[in-house]
Amino acid sequence: MGKRNFGTMPCSECGKEVVVKENENETLSYSCAWCDDSNYAKKGTGKHSGWKSRIKPLESAPTPPAPPATKPKTQKTESGLIL
Ligand SMILES: [Zn+2]
Repeated sequence: MGKRNFGTMPCSECGKEVVVKENENETLSYSCAWCDDSNYAKKGTGKHSGWKSRIKPLESAPTPPAPPATKPKTQKTESGLIL
């Protein structure tokens, strides 16, 4: 539901970097905070694919180092001998 941040690309008006959002119909849109330009590109249009080639995907949040897992409960048999 709603829009999600898709990435950033230069505003087509002023060239400043804007956040591009994608809605549930995969329409990309942005509204520029710098020049008040707003724009959108519907999926399947040349504009849309053009945007996609220009958009820098959001940097995914750095994955935190895996916390030391709780000790795996491996059951060790005292001896591997099976008679
Ligand atoms: Zn702009």
